[in-house]
Amino acid sequence: EVRHLEKTFPGTRGLLGHDAIKAVNDVSFHIPDGGAVSFIGESGCGKTTIGRILAGLETYTAGEVVMDGQNLAQLPRRQRAVLLRRVQLIQQDPYQALNPARTIEQALTDPLKVIAKERGADKAWIMHRLHEVLELVGLDPDAVIYKYPHMLSGGQRQRIVIARALTVDPSVLVADEAVSMIDVSLRLGVLKLLRDLRERFKISVLFITHDVASARYVGDDGQMFVIYKGRIVEHGLTDEVILHPQHPYTQALLSAVPVLKGLEEPGPDRYIPLKEFGHGQPPEHACAFAPRCPYAQPLCGQEKPELVGTAHQYACHYPKERHVVAVPLSE
Ligand code: SF4
Repeated sequence: EVRHLEKTFPGTRGLLGHDAIKAVNDVSFHIPDGGAVSFIGESGCGKTTIGRILAGLETYTAGEVVMDGQNLAQLPRRQRAVLLRRVQLIQQDPYQALNPARTIEQALTDPLKVIAKERGADKAWIMHRLHEVLELVGLDPDAVIYKYPHMLSGGQRQRIVIARALTVDPSVLVADEAVSMIDVSLRLGVLKLLRDLRERFKISVLFITHDVASARYVGDDGQMFVIYKGRIVEHGLTDEVILHPQHPYTQALLSAVPVLKGLEEPGPDRYIPLKEFGHGQPPEHACAFAPRCPYAQPLCGQEKPELVGTAHQYACHYPKERHVVAVPLSE
């Protein structure tokens, strides 16, 4: 459970400097056992920072991260490390995640040795578990165990990274753009693996991506959070958000998904420019999306919209049913 999480990266004059960046701003969510939660948004929106905080790789400025009812910030360092071990990060680049000078056997036995020591298990257990996790991720242990990472495909490497995460019996996998750097033809296999791990072992998945279709594949029964400039702008059941998006930014993300029926006349939502408006901090008193929003009205620059709704929430003064498309003056 994450409550009111904030992360500010200091500027030249520290956390209070005018160029400090609030990468995560008042973000709250809950990952149920075996559930899927997806965070979607473009690069620099803060979603990776949230994943790194959950995996214990990044500190946070304010808020609470609670696991098994325990606030991590209040635990002694060792106890916190033991809990955080149950959150494993699957990073975007499987090339960087594996040491090129170590075989797959060496890469996977390192964490297994630690577990074996804690459990009083012997070398035979390590080898048994090594074979077990490789089979779980769909690899033939005998075919890969003595190979080096460069001898494997991108998809196989990402499966090895997932196998390494499984060696410590994780409760949560944080998959950060986990398939974006592997060949398109191999992506579906890795996405299917993540979905299977949820269903078979009740491992929760936090899926971080800019790709709505992948998020839906891994967790169509889960919750989807749309992040913009560090804030949640819309969330709800994944299918509800995809089928009935209310926030103009969500609509823009969805309209960026290629449609095979390319000749179909695009609606006004397709015209929202998704060009970057710089990484500057948006003003606290206004809607951060206003400079890009075709539905912006004077109120949007004066008052920051808060999340409204119950199961399906969105932070917008003029959600879909109240849109008034701004017409250029020349028309
Ligand atoms: Fe657009 Fe206004 Fe909604 Fe912000 S609050 S997304 S500017 S309509």
